[in-house]
Amino acid sequence: MEELKHFINGTYVAGTSGRFSEVRNPATGEVIAKVPLATPAELDAAVEKAAAAQKEWAKVNPQRRARIFMKFGALLNENMDRLAECMSREHGKTLPDARGDVQRGLEVVEVCMGVPSLIKGEYTADAGTGIDLYSMRQPLGVVAGITPFNFPAMIPLWKMSPAIASGNAMILKPSERTPMTSLMLAEIFKEAGLPDGVLQVVHGDKEAVDAILDNETIQAVGFVGSTPIAQYIYGRAATNGKRAQCFGGAKNHMIIMPDADMDKAADALIGAGFGAAGERCMAISVAVPVGKETADALIERLVPKIEKLKVGPYTAGDDVDYGPVITAQAKERIEGLIASGVEQGAKLVTDGRDLNIQGYENGYFVGPTLFDEVTPEMEIYKEEVFGPVLSMVRKDSYEDALGLILDNQYGNGTAIYTADGDVARDFVNKVEVGMVGVNFPIPVPLSYYSFGGWKKSAFGDLDQYGPDAFKFYTKTKKVSARWFSGIKDGAAMNFKSID
Ligand code: NAD
Repeated sequence: MEELKHFINGTYVAGTSGRFSEVRNPATGEVIAKVPLATPAELDAAVEKAAAAQKEWAKVNPQRRARIFMKFGALLNENMDRLAECMSREHGKTLPDARGDVQRGLEVVEVCMGVPSLIKGEYTADAGTGIDLYSMRQPLGVVAGITPFNFPAMIPLWKMSPAIASGNAMILKPSERTPMTSLMLAEIFKEAGLPDGVLQVVHGDKEAVDAILDNETIQAVGFVGSTPIAQYIYGRAATNGKRAQCFGGAKNHMIIMPDADMDKAADALIGAGFGAAGERCMAISVAVPVGKETADALIERLVPKIEKLKVGPYTAGDDVDYGPVITAQAKERIEGLIASGVEQGAKLVTDGRDLNIQGYENGYFVGPTLFDEVTPEMEIYKEEVFGPVLSMVRKDSYEDALGLILDNQYGNGTAIYTADGDVARDFVNKVEVGMVGVNFPIPVPLSYYSFGGWKKSAFGDLDQYGPDAFKFYTKTKKVSARWFSGIKDGAAMNFKSID
């Protein structure tokens, strides 16, 4: 079994804490590696080295930094299959889905190739007599990224790319459940020419995270994970005077109007509900059909599609629709929530429990589960299931369907399927959710926009990647400069408008 190391100053460094976490292949349950969990002292030492590297990195002009991103992008493409294989092994997702994970991260790298134009300041000549006024964007220094298990390449790339392109050094603390892909990314970035120390991968759990939050050199924290941890990290980082943007969990609804194309809506629900085993923060976990006929038409279409879904290990070929969930505990939790749905009176249409895949009896597989007649009081509705479970909450009117979403504590993603432009427009305007799809089930904005939810799905200011990320990872200096030719002498005693 492989013993993983931290990646510090461009080289692998063994952990010294003596504490490890197991990394398992979720398709087999086998332990494939053990990952060291850093102590606060190890974290602080990595930060000190990052701070030294950052001073030099900030002097590299933006165009040269952009060239490293061009090389990085090319190498990510070249290594796509290797990255996907590594990810599928530690995460369980299918190879095509894993390649998509790299691809959506790569798109953020591509935006960073334009960093010279993205961090330009502003300039007003002759703001007053002999006065020029300008602003410039400077890096923050050392920043940290704390990432979840579910997108082992994409989310670390979302974090590290804009931060590093803007001239910062990053401490990346990946999920201890999927740490290997991050190490591969760090190696590839080094090969692209990133100077040692600008990206440090420090593994760990709460102890390392708390050390990040309390370290005085770290200026900003970008977190992605579950809501309780996002809220905790936001509070502690902010108390310690850091910038923090912390993205949390979700419960994403899709409204299906009676005039929607039912075949397309059903396909969308299958992909967005069960794809990646439902382990996406943008997964649709609640279908809200308007009217009995709409609900019945959907169930009629969904059931045969669900029965055809192929669940299995990534090694079984590209026709596998989705793989296992991440851990035995996750499987147990999801199956427990399914049991609670049954107990609390929801109608179980397809049951994904007790799925047995020959040769993979120890894998953490959960079959596609569909509930009808779910109500907002049930656990299965209230909890973020983060598994292949789709709940249907029937509503009689568009207003009631919208009201359900407005009452939900989360606001990450949502969608509406309809042929009526007026209804779609009303929905887009009124819904309290950060990312909205119209006949589009997973509305993840492209890399030149920014990604972020509302309500309990995000804490802090500004979204991740896109224009917001360059604001988050830089601070603006405002300069008023005066040159004295033609200006009369004399002290200005009062605060007044500039002449
Ligand atoms: P998680 O909250 O368990 O872990 C995320 C990170 O926090 C990991 O690096 C982990 O080591 C660390 N962590 C865990 N417990 C901690 C603690 N007590 N104190 C400090 N740090 C701790 O999340 P996960 O299970 O890895 O990921 C799934 C969650 O992430 C889901 O809720 C999903 O919706 C969410 N997610 C959100 C987005 C988004 O952009 N909003 C994107 C992807 C995933």
